[in-house]
Amino acid sequence: MRTYQFINEQSFNTFTLRKQIMTNKINRRKFLIGGTALGVASGISNISGAQAPSIKKGSVKPVVVASGNGHTMKNGGKFNCVETAYNRIVRGDDVLDALIEGVNIVELDPLDASVGFGGRPNANGVVQLDSCCMHGPKKQAGGVGALEGVRMPSLVARDVMEKTDHHLIVGKGAQDFARNMGYKIEDDLNSDRSRKMWLDWKRRIDPEHYLDPEKREVAGRNAAMDMIKEGIIPEDEYYGTINCNGINADGDICGVTTTSGLAWKIPSRVGDSPILGAGLYVDGNYGAAGSTGRGEANLYGLCSYLIVEEMRRGSHPLDAGMTALKRIQENTVEKRLLNERGLPNFSVNFYVIDKQGRFAGVALYGEYASGEPRKYAVCDENGSRLEDLEPLLSGSSV
Ligand code: ASP
Repeated sequence: MRTYQFINEQSFNTFTLRKQIMTNKINRRKFLIGGTALGVASGISNISGAQAPSIKKGSVKPVVVASGNGHTMKNGGKFNCVETAYNRIVRGDDVLDALIEGVNIVELDPLDASVGFGGRPNANGVVQLDSCCMHGPKKQAGGVGALEGVRMPSLVARDVMEKTDHHLIVGKGAQDFARNMGYKIEDDLNSDRSRKMWLDWKRRIDPEHYLDPEKREVAGRNAAMDMIKEGIIPEDEYYGTINCNGINADGDICGVTTTSGLAWKIPSRVGDSPILGAGLYVDGNYGAAGSTGRGEANLYGLCSYLIVEEMRRGSHPLDAGMTALKRIQENTVEKRLLNERGLPNFSVNFYVIDKQGRFAGVALYGEYASGEPRKYAVCDENGSRLEDLEPLLSGSSV
């Protein structure tokens, strides 16, 4: 019976260690029953280090995975993101087009204050959106950063991919590009809800005087953490995004990530979401990975790229995701980013699919501060559902 190497390296107490191993065993069984049926039938090994197998066309069970809002948000309609994407994928539509139509639902839903219209504004109250997409078979990608005034930045990201020679266009240039492509540019993408929460945050910090950056960072973060504790902003909206990845029966893999970024960020801050290799990476021959959570932590390790590279070496998506989380933990050494246990005081989550259609959702922590479990969205032949994210560390980030 194998266990994860990294678990033995942790300074967890015995109880935590046992619990973690048990959780991993349970999940391993779930994979064997579900997502890895093809791998088992064809004798494909899950053991890291094995060569990633080649896949015959038409031999994969289609699946779509996303952050939890891919299941919960419907923008007042009948279908959520993952089932919208899945339904198109099994009809034979292009995988990336299907995924983008899925995330458009979340971008437009004002109830999701971490993506698109009604997303969290920056510190000046302006909603700036980031997105990127990658098409595995076409080996193409496009992205936008700090884009203002366009509700569905994932569409503009796809236009950058399809209609330019570039990958990433940011700021005013991204808006000019969108206008030239025919997108409606709006003055303000705040919803009443996102504006109200920004005002509350602003009231809690000194709005007049730019404190020295360190004090301001601490003041801004403390204000946000207090608002989370008071239940004014859900923790998954402070860090919030949608990443959505899918695979069709032919093994075509694509992915898209779209976000309003870190809540109340310094204007023009761009996180991991639109950066290839960080917020999203797809290699059509091996798999896809994308993230939500503290982008700065992900950027240090370009973790989506790391995960796909691990899968290229034969790792199961779960092992590959855990390797990335471990890297994030190792790279987190600044005191201000550590909790009382000396562990990261934030979470990062990854949503992973490999070329065989095996999938995993992993998180630094499996719980929110409230004790609620962190979940991700899955849609396959069994329909759309939320599943628990597999944690690297016990408890929550606080
Ligand atoms: N990862 C995104 C960022 O850092 C947003 C998030 O998921 O919180 O911008």
